[in-house]
Amino acid sequence: MYFCDVKPLIAYFFLCFFAVNAYSQQIRIGVYREYDIQRIVFAHDGFNYSIYADSSNLGEIIDEGYVEIQQTPDKKLELFVGIVSQGVFDKISLIETQENASIELTPTIPSQKTRKYQNDFEILPGIKGLTIVNVVNLNNYLSGVVESEGGTGKDIEYYKVQALMSRTYALKYLSKHVKEGFNLCDRVHCQAYHYKLRFTPDIEKAVKATENVVMEDEHGNLVDAYFHANCGGQTSEADYIWNNSVHYLNTFKDTFCIYTKQATWEKRIPKHQWAEFLVKRYNYPINDSILGPLLYNFTQTERLAFYHNPILGIPLRDIRQEFKLKSTYFSNYLDGNDVLIRGRGYGHGVGLCQEGAMHMAKYKYNYIQIAIYYFPGIYIHNLEEDAFFRQRGNLFLCSPYRVED
Ligand SMILES: [Zn+2]
Ligand SMILES: [Zn+2]
Repeated sequence: MYFCDVKPLIAYFFLCFFAVNAYSQQIRIGVYREYDIQRIVFAHDGFNYSIYADSSNLGEIIDEGYVEIQQTPDKKLELFVGIVSQGVFDKISLIETQENASIELTPTIPSQKTRKYQNDFEILPGIKGLTIVNVVNLNNYLSGVVESEGGTGKDIEYYKVQALMSRTYALKYLSKHVKEGFNLCDRVHCQAYHYKLRFTPDIEKAVKATENVVMEDEHGNLVDAYFHANCGGQTSEADYIWNNSVHYLNTFKDTFCIYTKQATWEKRIPKHQWAEFLVKRYNYPINDSILGPLLYNFTQTERLAFYHNPILGIPLRDIRQEFKLKSTYFSNYLDGNDVLIRGRGYGHGVGLCQEGAMHMAKYKYNYIQIAIYYFPGIYIHNLEEDAFFRQRGNLFLCSPYRVED
């Protein structure tokens, strides 16, 4: 049975990619990945850090102190403590000397904004620039991600569902950047992680309250926890967007987001640009007696995947990309020399609708109800309970959180 193979594999995955210590799980995140950093400063932030260069301990970064690391042309690391060079090394580590310490990072070549991150760092030479790895407690990482992705000032059940999704994503894609020496990057490519948690203590509580809880499908696989800003009142099929259907991500009417600020939008495109795109790129049949007159007129009451007719082969996602539209959920008509586009929602529309989820949280739905609403048929699973069941020799007990719809 498929089940029998999957659970031990997940457990193996955990052992391979997580340094499990007495206190916490750690995850390796590559930071400043959108830049080719040649030189960076790590500065004291009220916590002491031990400096290791290859295997030597060079003491601590103490109050008002800093270290600077530069990649050399022959792909080594020159380390400065203050302004004094300590030599050239292959690997430098900065290890916290008290739990949950944080440190300030400021790239100087090229110059970039200062960020603060918690826990340890490993710095290695890379192909185009430094590989800077934050070896961070999973909860601290998730707190930073939820604040980067979800913003401030929301209800705690919303932060919990966002934490649940971010944890599920992180654990599902632990091997995404493993060839580069870390699990996940800090960009939207994986999950935005641009700072440690700063402003919202509720996020830390939400991450803690959902610790070890993930979303799984009926086979015990972690689900693809997609989300978007606003679905416009109807979520999208995954295959409308990526040509790849995901059975727990079906389209449905979402009544929680329709009166929110990003529910509707408008955009004007000059008529000639619209025609040029559809006719030149897709051979739109302008001489066809039925379709010809509809070049500028299109109505979507329910979400569709294609402009007018799938036979024309014009995916709405291509129109969205070409004209930088907020979503594919739009109707359009000719207005003077422009095509006036009236659209709904913001983002790809697949999975959880953030503004809908925020409203559900405001109306006192709990995070499990919100998750099940947007991902019907999934299981909410506590991995700690899994370990307990495994001990009892029963790997396959379903979660008590399963909500039948
Ligand atoms: Zn990535
Ligand atoms: Zn919605």
